Amino acid sequence: MPVYSLPDLPYDYAALQPSISARIMELHHDKHHQAYVTGANIALDQLAEARDSGNLANVNKLTKDLAFNLAGHVNHSIFWTNLSPDGGDRPTGDIAAVIDDSFGSFDKFTAHFTAAAMGVQGSGWAALVYDSIGQRPIVLQYHDQQQDFPAGTIPLLLLDVWEHAYYLDYANVRADYVKAFWNIVSWSNVQERFTTAQKQTAGLLVP
Ligand code: MN
Repeated sequence: MPVYSLPDLPYDYAALQPSISARIMELHHDKHHQAYVTGANIALDQLAEARDSGNLANVNKLTKDLAFNLAGHVNHSIFWTNLSPDGGDRPTGDIAAVIDDSFGSFDKFTAHFTAAAMGVQGSGWAALVYDSIGQRPIVLQYHDQQQDFPAGTIPLLLLDVWEHAYYLDYANVRADYVKAFWNIVSWSNVQERFTTAQKQTAGLLVP
């Protein structure tokens, strides 16, 4: 039995048009996300085989494969729920206040996050995460799926800037894709993740 499985999208492929086309959503979910799920399961199986046989020569490779593919599975699972056909506009409630406090204003936050998304060199993600030591949100760039990811941070809002996420719709103009992203952000999902992250990490890393 595989450990990981592909979650269904919480909306139809076409639901995020015109920001993201149905064709991209179908390929991105059914092919790319599925490949990370499959890759993570294979890495776990091969690590189990290595333990059973006692031949641990490939542990480095398999460990990297597991980290990359599991991170791909986690990131995409979060990303789909961060988006909604009813999204956009501005956050309200706790998350709005904490964004203002942490980044100066919502506009300064979106400018910062957009610059992070635009600046990712090669493949990666822009990420608003909850830092459980600082007990505040910070903006990160993930390179590939999992690099430059500090322990103790929990993703709240992710934006995939791998070319597979936008090239069919926007070709090389990543800026237009990032601009369109703001129209489909589900701030209610970000709020829910923020509330959960605060509860989950209370007292865990900070005495
Ligand atoms: Mn992707």
